[in-house]
Amino acid sequence: MSMTEASCIFCKIVSQEIKTEFIAETNNTLAFRDIAPLAKVHLLVIPKQHHRDVVELADNAPEILSEVLSTATELAKKFSAGSFKLQFNTGAEAGQTVFHAHAHVLSETAKDGS
Ligand code: AMP
Ligand code: ZN
Repeated sequence: MSMTEASCIFCKIVSQEIKTEFIAETNNTLAFRDIAPLAKVHLLVIPKQHHRDVVELADNAPEILSEVLSTATELAKKFSAGSFKLQFNTGAEAGQTVFHAHAHVLSETAKDGS
């Protein structure tokens, strides 16, 4: 398993080849705003390592999946009023378009009431 993939857009975000504002960072994860938000709050949390989807992440690095979930729930608490969805689209038929594992944090009730 390679840690990065040259053609992967999220690996380029990790390496800052694509400049992106991070809203959270831990040893093994990064979070940033989705470029095409589908909800009032729409954040993405990714492992810094390249894994193609959540199944590969769970199989190969369960401790990093746990870190992704911790970061995602912390950000959900911080940015939403308490109602939110955590979503891992897995496979093209399920709507996965970026094949680097990521959790969507989605909420229609932002913490600031907007
Ligand atoms: P998925 O459809 O589950 O694979 O989600 C991929 C998400 O990544 C989509 O919601 C895209 O809008 C988002 N996305 C793609 N490129 C970028 C980028 N450069 N910065 C932030 N979000 C991105
Ligand atoms: Zn990648």
